[in-house]
Amino acid sequence: MIPRYAAVCIDTLHGELDRLFHYRIPAGMDVQAGMRCVVPFGKGNKPTTGYVIELTDTTEAQTSRIKDIAALPDDFCVLTTETLSLVRWMRDKYYTTLISCIRCVAPTAKVGKAFPSTRALGARKPKKDFGSDKPEVTLTDDQAYAVNVICSALSAAVFLVHGVTGSGKTEVYLHTISHVLAQGKQAIVLVPEIALTPQTVDIFTARFGDAVAVTHSRLTAGERFAIWKRALEGTVSLVIGPRSAVFAPFARLGLIVIDEEHEHTYHSETSPKYDTREVAVKRAELTGAVVVMGSATPSMESYLAATENPQAYQLLRLPNRINLTFPEVHIIDMRREFSRGNTSLFSKDFADALKEVLAAGRQAILFLNRRGYSTFVSCRWCGEVLSCDQCRVNHTYHADTGSLLCHYCGRGLPLPEKCPSCTSVHLRRFGVGTQQLEAEVARLFPNTATLRMDMDTTRGKFGHADILSAFRRGAAQVLIGTQMVAKGLDFPQVTLVGVIAADLSLFSGDFRAGEHTFQLLTQVAGRAGRSDYAGRVFLQTYNPEHYALQFAREGRYEAFYAHEIAVRRTMDYPPFTHIFSVMLSGPIEKEVIAALHKLQAIMAYCNKKKRFELMGVSPAFVSKVKQKFRWKLLVKCAEEEPLKQFVLYCIGKLRENDPLSEITVHLSLNPAMME
Ligand code: ADP
Ligand code: ZN
Ligand code: ZN
Repeated sequence: MIPRYAAVCIDTLHGELDRLFHYRIPAGMDVQAGMRCVVPFGKGNKPTTGYVIELTDTTEAQTSRIKDIAALPDDFCVLTTETLSLVRWMRDKYYTTLISCIRCVAPTAKVGKAFPSTRALGARKPKKDFGSDKPEVTLTDDQAYAVNVICSALSAAVFLVHGVTGSGKTEVYLHTISHVLAQGKQAIVLVPEIALTPQTVDIFTARFGDAVAVTHSRLTAGERFAIWKRALEGTVSLVIGPRSAVFAPFARLGLIVIDEEHEHTYHSETSPKYDTREVAVKRAELTGAVVVMGSATPSMESYLAATENPQAYQLLRLPNRINLTFPEVHIIDMRREFSRGNTSLFSKDFADALKEVLAAGRQAILFLNRRGYSTFVSCRWCGEVLSCDQCRVNHTYHADTGSLLCHYCGRGLPLPEKCPSCTSVHLRRFGVGTQQLEAEVARLFPNTATLRMDMDTTRGKFGHADILSAFRRGAAQVLIGTQMVAKGLDFPQVTLVGVIAADLSLFSGDFRAGEHTFQLLTQVAGRAGRSDYAGRVFLQTYNPEHYALQFAREGRYEAFYAHEIAVRRTMDYPPFTHIFSVMLSGPIEKEVIAALHKLQAIMAYCNKKKRFELMGVSPAFVSKVKQKFRWKLLVKCAEEEPLKQFVLYCIGKLRENDPLSEITVHLSLNPAMME
């Protein structure tokens, strides 16, 4: 029997339209679920793009009013049976509209227009910059065991490979991929950010040549579509890319690798706010593929799952570095420097080490994580960091009001004149940036060439790659940068790494600050001593006894994990509970705050049984962006589904009374970074 109607999802982002519309299929039109179509829509029957979600024989719509599908621009389905299931799952999981999920998963083009021809795009040349000259290696016992276990997994298994930096995780991925491709299946490799991992990408292209396609954010729509189509048709069998590559439409998907699985770039910041790891696991469930997540510093969520739920996540370990020794890591107590009269950015030991490295003609990386737009306040005498007594997160200093605020519960107080711990008056606000750091190097070492890598210097198309290759060529002896320099870079001449203010990430006002700091310091320390020259790492801090620093210095992930997970358990933070962040933004701050207070009142009213824990109204981490003021409210509950229902219901109630015309609502469940 030939279906007569198609249930169509219309391509508009109006939330109210998050439902399907029925259209009649004209005789002779070969429509399939998953196809793009053009349909008359709205008052003027404007030609509009739609996606065929289902074919049916009946319709609830009045047959006299039902319209015909106008055209089918393509001769293929932009959504496969599998990705159709995936977008439906995403809509519910990430409380968004079906169309925003479709836009995220399927290629897009103008209404009625065909996609560009992929033939015109020409053949790709595999690049052979790095890696290709490396001979095939013999796997170590740990690597061989991991490869063996993963390759003998029947289907839909999830593995967490915990391998220290330099333990050869990449080789495990390469062997597993070879196995999968040899079976005629396909694989996806996800990396945190393509621009920052050119070496990893080149190793894969060198090994698999023409079978590989690399996606990244700077591709044109045509290039992006060409890769999508090649994956659909199976003319490539390995796609490497950032989080969006998880949607590669392979028909015989066998493996998804997620390298550096703890990286926050795997969380989408725009709607649908998906977690790439969850999407990968869902695709594995739908296709029978295997998921391999790897990291030297796994996220609390993944490691908890791997240790407490081994049926779901299987843990594999690579505890040893290959041919490399761990660098010597020194923690420098900046309180002592201060009491000795050194008020510069560099401790004496680090300045001496830098001088030696420069004299020896080697290279150094100076790392300053300046994600903090706001600043924290600490005592230069005793190291005390002013923090909220309710939340175990530090207070953030707001220069405009001269006050301290907790970004978690919203409580605040005026900046005290004396340290509450030792009564010294030497309270210091932290907020040094990379530019200031570059100036300091120039002042101390006037004839030294430096390169700086941060948001400001990497804007151009080849920004990252240019800076990295200049540094590799030896165009500068010192590379200064934000967390961009912490990723998987491998520079043999680098023998010194300096973390200028380890406290910056430690006191970012986020309950994940300890975890982020440990991960960053471990990654950044892993940059030193990757060749025959011994490496040294200096961590400058006012809090040398902090567990994240101590465990990072000793390279003890398990010990760090045990400590951190205990804190999360006691404080009732994720992964033991779910936190829903509701952020409102708008041009008039008073209105934003008022709307949030209204929402809070609705929530309190609907929460008579106290099932949900409501936190206070507080400014967002970045409280003003592009002339819009941002305030937020957090709600906690141990169960995800009721929490989502509750928040969405209360926001619906708020909208009933108030159109929120100038205000945008941003929702985020368990955000990777506190917004
Ligand atoms: P990770 O990703 O775990 O930090 P890498 O995959 O970068 O580590 O491996 C570190 C170094 O060891 C690389 O230079 C890699 O080529 C090399 N390597 C990996 N496995 C082997 C092996 N079995 N034998 C020799 N060298 C290896
Ligand atoms: Zn003090
Ligand atoms: Zn608080």
